[in-house]
Amino acid sequence: MRATSEAWRAQGLTVGLVPTMGALHGGHLSLVGRARGDCDRVVASIFVNPLQFGPGEDFGRYPRQLERDLDLLARAGVDAVFLPEVAEMFPSGAVTRVQVRGLGERLEGAQRPGHFEGVGTVVLKLFNAVRPQRAYFGQKDAQQAALVRRLARDLDTGVEVVVCPIVREGDGLALSSRNAYLAAAERPAATCLYRALRAANQLYLDGERDPARLRACLLDVLGAEPLAKVDYAEVVDPETFTPPGSLAVLAVRFGGTRLIDNHRLGERLPDGS
Ligand code: AMP
Repeated sequence: MRATSEAWRAQGLTVGLVPTMGALHGGHLSLVGRARGDCDRVVASIFVNPLQFGPGEDFGRYPRQLERDLDLLARAGVDAVFLPEVAEMFPSGAVTRVQVRGLGERLEGAQRPGHFEGVGTVVLKLFNAVRPQRAYFGQKDAQQAALVRRLARDLDTGVEVVVCPIVREGDGLALSSRNAYLAAAERPAATCLYRALRAANQLYLDGERDPARLRACLLDVLGAEPLAKVDYAEVVDPETFTPPGSLAVLAVRFGGTRLIDNHRLGERLPDGS
């Protein structure tokens, strides 16, 4: 992978990286589209990273559909797909880990111990393998995007981190590989994340700035959905992920499926009707 990428760079071409865990959907393809617009060559990686899954999480059952993914990426016009094996990325004896203090310990980091250490480590390794000038991440995983931007700067990677908007279904549900886990009755219930973000956004646009009231609004909408169990609903600063701020972040469980979503209050949201 590095030889391919360095040959491109030696020709003066720019290389963009889109890291994914596969089970691709329109959200991933939007990152590829943006990268294609910005860069001469685009590399997508598919790697279900065991390090970022906790014990009891869904590593074993995470959807894997390689043939379909390769077909989608070919049609989206990527120049290379990087498909490392777990044993190549993490051979026995590899014990070095990347930790982003503070930011990596809040919210998702607190709920999923070790998660962001796994993300940070794999992202740095992907940067070292692919040597991109730019890497593309989705705002869907807002805390991950902030963390990657931080580590890219802190560790002098020379990689520009580009964060792309959330792609949603017509009813507002953010596209996610994990949506496939939702049972039939849970699927309509899952729109409560979007409905909560919309309600808080409207309150914010009406002038409300009290973080406690904005948070209460999120919790009201989520609390009205019997199938939803809230892991967290907060309004935080988009860089530190501590309150106060104007980024509304949600993690909600439906049975065994855990969904996350977020919105910068004050920015426009589609209707979601
Ligand atoms: P994943 O395969 O879930 O690790 O996601 C790979 C990349 O796609 C991450 O940067 C995600 O933030 C991004 N992504 C996932 N879902 C969406 C979405 N609905 N809209 C935009 N980007 C997304």
